[in-house]
Amino acid sequence: MNISPNTKLVGLIGHPVEHSLSPKLHNSLYKKYNLDYVYLAFDIAPDDVGKALEAFKVLGFKGFNVTIPHKERVMWFLDWLDTEAAIIGAVNTVKVENGKLIGYNTDGMGFVDSLKRRGIALKDTVALVLGAGGAARAICVYLLKEGVKELYIYNRTRERAIELIKHLERFFSGVCLNYLTKENIKEVQPDLVVNTTPVGMWPHTQLMPVEDYAFLPGMIVVDIIYNPIETAFLRKARQAGCMAINGLDMLVGQAIKAIEIWTSLKVDYDEAISILIEGDKFLL
Ligand code: NAP
Repeated sequence: MNISPNTKLVGLIGHPVEHSLSPKLHNSLYKKYNLDYVYLAFDIAPDDVGKALEAFKVLGFKGFNVTIPHKERVMWFLDWLDTEAAIIGAVNTVKVENGKLIGYNTDGMGFVDSLKRRGIALKDTVALVLGAGGAARAICVYLLKEGVKELYIYNRTRERAIELIKHLERFFSGVCLNYLTKENIKEVQPDLVVNTTPVGMWPHTQLMPVEDYAFLPGMIVVDIIYNPIETAFLRKARQAGCMAINGLDMLVGQAIKAIEIWTSLKVDYDEAISILIEGDKFLL
């Protein structure tokens, strides 16, 4: 990496950030595409988000990504919100333009693109989303935009699932939206199940978001976790004959969309994923 006074700065704020793959992914892509950018990760405590954003403006950052737990809080400090980010109610990408902060959400698009690339059509399907946090909000909005006819949400804190359903009802009509409890989760047989909780993520790799979930052959099961590449939940799904998809595609999809927002450059998806994985081997 050839850093000069002209090198443009972008980065990530989260808490913690030490296990993020984004710096390696972004910096490898900038090198490959000859972009004079550098991507840095910053561990920012929740109370310091506003100060960090002011610092980014002063230091001339071109933009930054936002991860757990700041995706909602960061919106308080922005000057402008892209329409989709406003509907989702969470921001994972910010562009700094003429001293103004513009918020976007590229998570939902990254998720849906990962399904489309596999030829999966979502129109008139039944979906179950596990979790009701920032990633779930983005994914639910995109599932509904793609024409899912029934959407069920199961979350550890039931009130948060109900709140998300009420929020979605404001923007989408004519769809069956409902929350599930531990007791009735087995009553629906979705075409698509998406885990958006961090349960099963390294180092707690033996845990599952729902114990004894009744996977049926042919179901599409996505776990947006990418460390490990195959979570216990995904392994069980694959062994039951489901199509099992991990979170790497979504990670790459949201990253290339962020690069497009910051630099206008369209990065090729296959080139980007090849930085992370070769066959079954994780490269980073
Ligand atoms: P978030 O806003 O903090 O939401 C976390 C969700 O998971 C909440 O619904 C929370 O339930 C639930 N949860 C957390 N710990 C739990 C536990 N021990 N048992 C049951 N439920 C639990 O986080 P987020 O931004 O949505 O991110 C969630 C996960 O998605 C993280 O693992 C993140 O790395 C991953 N992610 C991946 C990508 C990608 O590109 N592949 C993109 C975004 C996020 P409560 O409401 O009960 O707290």
